[in-house]
Amino acid sequence: MIVILSGGTGGAKLIEGLAAEVGAAELTIICNTGDDCVFHGLNVSPDIDTILYTLAGLSDSAKGWGIKGDTFAVLDQLRCLGNEAWFNLGDKDFATHITRTRLLREGCQLSEVTDRTRRSLGVQAKILPMSDAPVETRVTTLQGEISFQEFFVRERWSPHVTAVRFAGIEQSRPAPGVLDAIRAASAIIICPSNPISSIGPILAVPGIRHALNQATVPVVAVSPLIGAAAISGPAHKLMTAQGLEASAFGVAQSYREFVKTLVIAHEDQCLTERIQNLGIGVNTTEIRMPSLADKRRLACEVLALAQK
Ligand code: GDP
Repeated sequence: MIVILSGGTGGAKLIEGLAAEVGAAELTIICNTGDDCVFHGLNVSPDIDTILYTLAGLSDSAKGWGIKGDTFAVLDQLRCLGNEAWFNLGDKDFATHITRTRLLREGCQLSEVTDRTRRSLGVQAKILPMSDAPVETRVTTLQGEISFQEFFVRERWSPHVTAVRFAGIEQSRPAPGVLDAIRAASAIIICPSNPISSIGPILAVPGIRHALNQATVPVVAVSPLIGAAAISGPAHKLMTAQGLEASAFGVAQSYREFVKTLVIAHEDQCLTERIQNLGIGVNTTEIRMPSLADKRRLACEVLALAQK
């Protein structure tokens, strides 16, 4: 069993490649829930849904979120009725959130809801939320503290950021199966996801970082940055706010206790020695994954490193 830590868009790309290479049934994905929000009274788990839709073959890979071919009639009508509607939710996507919200209100935990949903969609990989407890990534800007989605989607990640915190993290516990999966893994892969807002919350759930530190199997991570910028989104901005260098070296710093090998871009070859000095092996390659062939090639390289 291969255990994967993932956020949404960057994670989903590598996961699609891994599923194509080894079969989705071999994968257990521990997913960030720090971005979860309530919109229009409904519980939305954006990273879980991106992974679910990707593995179900439903995802809109051009956008990186949502269901391909989805329409937005419900959102348009919500807007007409005077609701704030800056977070895009498609009509079919609404069905996922309605189902999730109903099951949570009936007393199911998020892990059970996620498992039921992935079975309904025919997804063979196990998808585990990092925790069943609510954790909210909060971003401090010069205008005050806002949620991650307000920062990322509503403000298009333009405000200056001075800090990031995970509200509720101290009371959270790993969801059922998370620690067992890490202990039973044959390899552990950290996706090219935002190290602060996607992998950061997972590592901050009490017990998860410790379990990774104890792992005896190879842990391989892929950088989401080339040079001083993320391939997409605000990873570099959030890394700087948290006192990390905005580069693959900063990624290495945040995973240094448990990562055996970090996969970085060809362009970042110059960082190799500094990363190796942290005790981490380095593999340089093409880390962009625009096509399925790229996803599969990178997945193959990561799997080979994870078997060494
Ligand atoms: P989010 O919840 O949607 O932010 O999901 P992730 O954290 O999984 O994805 C965002 C990260 O994916 C960003 O930091 C990007 O730089 C990274 N990313 C996006 N596309 C690629 C790609 O093709 N290759 C790599 N290596 N990283 C990517």
